[in-house]
Amino acid sequence: MRRPALPNNRRGTVFRNKALGKRMGPAEATRPKPGAAEHGVDGLFFMHAAREQRTIACPRFVEGFGYWSGQDIRVEFHPADVDHGVVFVRHDVQPEVRIRATVDHRCDMPLRTTLESNGVRVEMVEHILAALAGLEIDNCEVRVSAAEMPGCDGSSRAFVEAIESAGVVRQAAPVRRLVVRHPVRLGDDTAWVEARPHPQGLFSVEYHLDYGPGPIGRQHFRMEVTPEAFRRELASSRTFTRLEEANALRSQGLGERVTARDLLIFDERGPIDNVLRFDDECVRHKVLDLIGDLALSGYALVGHVTAYRSGHRLNAELVRVLVEQHGQRQQHARSA
Ligand SMILES: [Zn+2]
Repeated sequence: MRRPALPNNRRGTVFRNKALGKRMGPAEATRPKPGAAEHGVDGLFFMHAAREQRTIACPRFVEGFGYWSGQDIRVEFHPADVDHGVVFVRHDVQPEVRIRATVDHRCDMPLRTTLESNGVRVEMVEHILAALAGLEIDNCEVRVSAAEMPGCDGSSRAFVEAIESAGVVRQAAPVRRLVVRHPVRLGDDTAWVEARPHPQGLFSVEYHLDYGPGPIGRQHFRMEVTPEAFRRELASSRTFTRLEEANALRSQGLGERVTARDLLIFDERGPIDNVLRFDDECVRHKVLDLIGDLALSGYALVGHVTAYRSGHRLNAELVRVLVEQHGQRQQHARSA
């Protein structure tokens, strides 16, 4: 990659990004520090200009039932103002409760991402968050009529279709970005997740799935996250589980409305009563989940995230660390 010579006076310098042909203010370029190594960035590189914030043009809804609860639900996507972020609204409780989709509202529940505010929850939000983040919708009010989001076909497809049919509106403010400045890795040898700076200032994700011997096996997938790539490569990839797990959940009275056609249930031969949409559909779905979890930063992420067998909890821990470091940098920049 082309690395231009360092200007003598970096403060206030306007950088020019040749690829984009746009003038970029210093806030848009990663400026080298004397101790660049401690930032993990080996010199100067250019960031792409921050895109505008985006919302949807008009309301749209998706109806279905929750996998766990079996309860019917209607999810409405509404346009929202600049800097609103993604906020869920439980309007089935009085007074209605607003739950911001950020990691500090996350509460730990097995196998799904749940958010909580004032004791009121929204559950299994990750496929909705992935759809919004994947399509770069920053501001949206998500009004829901029950706690658990609809499982639909186990993918983000219904949400993506609803959002796309609404149309996208560009808003007159740059998106708030969280730029990964140096590597952060969490977990252990059995499962880990790592964020690194992205040399081109983009957002990319990578997942290594390892179920050992069997029909799921080992799969790897890597992708630069853009709305086009998300729609094409990830949106329709479905949740999967193994038959033993599905039976264990059923014995607890969960998932009674769910059939093997509503998601991928694997026995030792492959998916039961179902056909894979991609040979590597499982790992694609893990990437989709990862994007949904990373959206809980509340920022547009700039960096490369790699995960090995990680799940919602570990992904959320990474988000917490990244948000904390970002906050510290902002504070440092303000006091400098
Ligand atoms: Zn999922």
